[in-house]
Amino acid sequence: MTKKCSTCNREVTNDYVELKCPNCNKAVIIRCIQCRELSNSYKCPECGFEGP
Ligand SMILES: [Zn+2]
Ligand SMILES: [Zn+2]
Repeated sequence: MTKKCSTCNREVTNDYVELKCPNCNKAVIIRCIQCRELSNSYKCPECGFEGP
């Protein structure tokens, strides 16, 4: 199963972080290392919450 960065939609392999949406606490946000370093914002697929 492939995982995709929630921000840039690229497939992630080993360098990524996984966090739960702080708003709905249901969806899992995945951020690739690049988006993390650039502090790109993410958007929750469940509730639409956007955060850093
Ligand atoms: Zn990314
Ligand atoms: Zn959410």
